[in-house]
Amino acid sequence: MNQPVTKLKKHRLPPLKYDYAALEPCIDSRTMMLHHGIHHGSYVAKLNEVLEKFPDLRNCSALSLLRNLDKLPQEIRLTVRHNAGGHVNHSMFWRAMRPGLGSEPKGLLREAINRDFGSVEKFMAQFEEEGTKLSGSGWVWLVRALQEKGKLEVITTSNHDHPVRLNRFPILLNDVWKHAYFMKYESRRAAYLKAWWAVVDWDEAARCFDLSDKSAEEHWEAEGG
Ligand code: MN
Repeated sequence: MNQPVTKLKKHRLPPLKYDYAALEPCIDSRTMMLHHGIHHGSYVAKLNEVLEKFPDLRNCSALSLLRNLDKLPQEIRLTVRHNAGGHVNHSMFWRAMRPGLGSEPKGLLREAINRDFGSVEKFMAQFEEEGTKLSGSGWVWLVRALQEKGKLEVITTSNHDHPVRLNRFPILLNDVWKHAYFMKYESRRAAYLKAWWAVVDWDEAARCFDLSDKSAEEHWEAEGG
């Protein structure tokens, strides 16, 4: 890793594909602005800051840092876990949504949801329920198991933990940290989870589902790490 310092990569806040106001009325523009610019922005800044003194790690993607947490120097492990996790999860979260009139899962993903949950409605109910009952800050996910013939499951993770640490491929995620919904929904997290379906980009979820057919190595590489 004897590259000149100028070649070292910095993690960057990805731009949104839509305006801050585009997800109204489901998510208000002020929440989007603070959530993307301030919250996500601070995870990116802190990740870059903690990697300053570790040039060998600065060319690793945030996802590969999460996959290899146990190999990182002990003194930065927790900080990387939090901030690389915050960066990876939020980057996926912005892609998981789009403005519009709402849509539904289609094709192979819909078939798999029907197979593993009974129906799309039952899946949505379980996703809302798990997201509502997670205590403290975290994420609710639709994931696909690497084993068990690729069964779909709903799981939650605390803080910014990512399903890669549980050997699961992420298909869809929602942020249930208070900063994601408090301004509009106050403490009504269940109402936020229910309203959120209107802005889900099911084409993006289908893309993630297709990726989950690949081997673990190919999958994580395609996801950026
Ligand atoms: Mn968040």
